Amino acid sequence: GRGKMSESTLIPVKVAVRCRPLIQKEINSGCQMCVAFTPGEPQIVLGKDRAFTYDYVFPDTTDQNDVYRRAVFPLIKHIFKGYNGTVFAYGQTGSGKTYTMGGSINSNIMGGSLHIDSDTMGIIPRVLMELFKGIEEIEDSEFSICVSYLEVYNESINDLLCPPAKRQPLTIREDHEGIKLPQLKQVAVESYESTMRVLEMGSHSRTTGATAMNDTSSRSHAIFTIHIERKQKDDQDNVRRSKFHLVDLAGSERVKKTHAEGDRFKEGVNINKGLLALGNVISALCEESGNRSYIPYRDAKLTRLLQDSLGGNSYTLMIACISPADSNMEETLNTLRYADRAR
Ligand code: ADP
Ligand code: MG
Repeated sequence: GRGKMSESTLIPVKVAVRCRPLIQKEINSGCQMCVAFTPGEPQIVLGKDRAFTYDYVFPDTTDQNDVYRRAVFPLIKHIFKGYNGTVFAYGQTGSGKTYTMGGSINSNIMGGSLHIDSDTMGIIPRVLMELFKGIEEIEDSEFSICVSYLEVYNESINDLLCPPAKRQPLTIREDHEGIKLPQLKQVAVESYESTMRVLEMGSHSRTTGATAMNDTSSRSHAIFTIHIERKQKDDQDNVRRSKFHLVDLAGSERVKKTHAEGDRFKEGVNINKGLLALGNVISALCEESGNRSYIPYRDAKLTRLLQDSLGGNSYTLMIACISPADSNMEETLNTLRYADRAR
C-alpha cells in the first residue's frame, strides 16, 4: 500500500485500474486486446512495453465481487469508525464506470421490480448491503442513515432526488463544520431495499432529466452520498458522523475538435475542469507531507464538494476504468497516465 503519513493525519489514497472485457461491438469490428497483465503483480502493460503499476490492477476476467472485496471492503470498517470515504470511477465513456459503481437502473431493475443479480451488481449495492448488515451486528450503537444524490454538470449542481420540475441549481456554503449544500435533499433510509429505490429514482432522473439530452449523463459527475450517524447507546453524547461518497465521474475522453463549439465546448471545458482539479487534488494529497503546500480544492465544484472527504480523516479509492480494445488505446493511455499521476 502507499498510504502515507503526514505529521498528524493518515491520508491513504489508493488507485485501482479495472479493465473490462472486450464487448460484442468491439469483437464484431475486429478489435484486439492491447493490454496485458503481469501475473501476481498489480501491473498492466499497454501495447508492447508500456508498464504501469498501481495498488490494484483488475484484469478483464475480474468479477464484481473481487473488485468489491479487495478494493472497497477495506474502507467499510473505517466508515463505521467515523472516517469519511470516497470511491471514484474514472475513465472514458464506455469503459465500465457505471457498471463498476452499480448506480445504473438497468442493472438494478428487471421486469419493473427490484431485482439485484448478486453476481453482477456493482459497488454501491454491495456497500449498502454491508452497511445494513453491520448496523444489525453492532449492538452498542444506534445508527441513522441518510442518502443524497447529486450531479455536477457544467459547474452547476443538481439534486437528483428532487423532481426535475422543482429542481434549482444548488449553492455551496462553507462554515466551520465544512462544506454544506443547504437545499440538498437528504432522504432517511432504513433498509437496503428502500435505499436501492432511492438510488434508482435518482439514476432514472439522471438519464431522463432536463440535462439528459445528448447523453449528457456521460458528461456529468454523479455523486451518491451515504451519511452515517452513529450514537453510542450508553452515552448519547458520543456521536460519530461519517460520509461515504460513491462517484461516477464524467467521461474523461477529450472533446473532439469538430464539436468544440458553443455549449458543447463549454461542457467539455467544464468537465475537464472537474477532472483536472480532481487529478491535481489527488496528486497533491499523495505528495510527501514536506512537499505538500496547498491542496487546490477550490478549482472546481467537484473538488469543493468533496473537500472534507478527500484528505484529512478520509479514505479515498480511485478506480480507473479502461477498455482493452486497440481502438481505444489512446484514451486508455490517457487514463493510465491520469491514474499514475495520482500515485
Ligand atoms: P461508462 O459508465 O464508463 O460509460 P458502462 O458502465 O456503461 O460504461 O459500460 C459500457 C458497457 O460495457 C456496458 O454495456 C456494460 O454493461 C459493459 N461492461 C462494463 N464493464 C464490464 C465488465 N467488467 N464486465 C462485463 N461488461 C462490462
Ligand atoms: Mg456511465
